[in-house]
Amino acid sequence: MIYKGSCHCGRVSFEAEGELAGAMACNCSICARMGSLLWFVPREKLRVLTSQDDVGTYTFNKHRIKHHFCRVCGIHPYAEGLDSKANPMAAINIRCLPEVELASVAVKHFDGKSL
Ligand SMILES: [Zn+2]
Repeated sequence: MIYKGSCHCGRVSFEAEGELAGAMACNCSICARMGSLLWFVPREKLRVLTSQDDVGTYTFNKHRIKHHFCRVCGIHPYAEGLDSKANPMAAINIRCLPEVELASVAVKHFDGKSL
């Protein structure tokens, strides 16, 4: 299935392909503030449809994860990084997928604070 996503103002839009079987709520310093619910897909399953000029990138700590945000409205729709086997991954914030009924998605809680 292909899910369409966007930031709030719509300048950043994307599609993510896969089966949305669940999402992760993380308690690390950035996820705790944003309230993101993350769905991990291989990077090639994320297609960013808009100009990179509108996409800002924020990194912190070990700078391994690129947190992407809209330069206009400030919403963080996705991030990029590597999984444990060094495969490129994307973390989609499913709150930015308007067609997804959030209450129907199983959410796992992840302790990112201690990493
Ligand atoms: Zn925006």
